[in-house]
Amino acid sequence: MKKIILMAFIALFCFSNSVNAKVISNEKIDNAKVETASKIIADLQKDMQNFTKKGSGPFVAAIYDDKGNLIVKVANSVVNEQCSNNHAEMNAIKAAEKKLGTFDLAPYNLKLYVTAEPCMMCLGGIMWSGIKEVYYSVPSKSVEEITGFDEGFKPHWFKEFKKRGIIVYGNIETELGEQELHNYVNNGKKIYKPSR
Ligand SMILES: [Zn+2]
Repeated sequence: MKKIILMAFIALFCFSNSVNAKVISNEKIDNAKVETASKIIADLQKDMQNFTKKGSGPFVAAIYDDKGNLIVKVANSVVNEQCSNNHAEMNAIKAAEKKLGTFDLAPYNLKLYVTAEPCMMCLGGIMWSGIKEVYYSVPSKSVEEITGFDEGFKPHWFKEFKKRGIIVYGNIETELGEQELHNYVNNGKKIYKPSR
């Protein structure tokens, strides 16, 4: 019996490690941060369908404080609110600033978790909000391949964020996130972008 439990434990350990084997960061990878981010991002991905049923999505973001308290959790609402800059990250920043009554989130040491790599616009939004740490799931390249969204051009953004004291972790729980994007496309949902 003990042997079976031990084998199950090893299998679980290997599996959970392999899920996040592709994690990248602009600091030395801290496994505790990856573990916390995995749980939060997996929850955001589970919430995705609730948001898409209401016309939001297919991206969900949450902001937590440094004690692990949830400040806000929101989805992209470009289509249902008819606003091209209502990406999940922008909505999360706006909601957190409103809730805390400030335009500067820096003193609160907040962390942003999101189901896909922030686009060009959201990188600017994050930079000017005072968010201290960013954790994302599906990389932009995969988002573009699966959905056809345009994520913009973002040269050296890991390095640029590091210069400004913003920690970034990417490619967390990507399989779950990619599956949700496939579901969005397969259900015939709108790929919103400007006509060119
Ligand atoms: Zn964005």
